[in-house]
This record gives sequence, C-alpha cells and structure tokens, in this order.
Amino acid sequence: MKTCDFCGNPVKKEALICPYCAQPLSIIKIKSAFKIKKAAIINIEAGLPLVKEALLNFDRELKFAQSQDVGILKIIHGYGSSGTGGKIKIALRQKLKLLLANNIIKGIIAGEVYSKASNSTINNRKITECYPDLLETLHSDKYNPGITFVEL
Ligand SMILES: [Zn+2]
Repeated sequence: MKTCDFCGNPVKKEALICPYCAQPLSIIKIKSAFKIKKAAIINIEAGLPLVKEALLNFDRELKFAQSQDVGILKIIHGYGSSGTGGKIKIALRQKLKLLLANNIIKGIIAGEVYSKASNSTINNRKITECYPDLLETLHSDKYNPGITFVEL
C-alpha cells in the first residue's frame, strides 16, 4: 500500500490514478538494497584439531560473526583424501548443508569453484562486488579446495 500525495487516502501500490481524487500517483520504485558487508576469515584447521573440535570452533566463530556486521565467512578447513583436513572438510560441508536447509546461513560457495569470474553471484552481483574484502586474497583463494565461503 502507498498513500495518495494529494488526498492522503491509502491506495494500492500498483495503482496509477487515485480512486478517491483521480490524481495521478507517483510510481514507487524500490531499489533493492545493496549494502557492502564485511568478510571474515576463520581457520578451523589450525593446530590440527579433531573433527569434533574443529566443528565446535566453527560454531563459536559463526555465532560471533552473526553478532557482527559480517556478510561472508571464509572458512579455512584444509583438504586431502586422508588426514585431518580432509575429514574436517567433509564434516564441515555436511554441517553447512544442514545449516543452509534450516536457513541459518544463506549460501555456500565451495573454494574449488570460487574465482572472480566464476558464477559465484549473490543477488546477481559478483561475490567480490558484494564483499570487496575478498579481493585482497582472491589470488590464493581461487579454486582452493581447502576453503569454503559461507554467506550469512
Ligand atoms: Zn487521492
């Protein structure tokens, strides 16, 4: 609903002429809000923790990021077919899928497919436009299977 500028009556937002006073109504264009948000980096593989510890660490960091003005989290989890990094990666990605399904996070971008030119877009904008902080480390983050980006 919007209000007629002339008579003040409530009118439907798609109405072009006021049904009360027959004056032409202004068309409200709502620009989609685009706000640059911060990127934060967390390293859950540091110190080679057990998978359980790494996930607990992630929970803590996620809660903290949610309380700040953070829009995207870059999670360093490592990778490998065996060893700590690989196990953390598998467990973390499973957890992220659950969080996504429960709308706790908005999106997941696997490091493997991440690049400036990739189709990693948020609201039709390139991820690096939404989060310019990410440009700083773009080079080392490109196609990096040891990281995952999470949109909050
Ligand atoms: Zn009117």
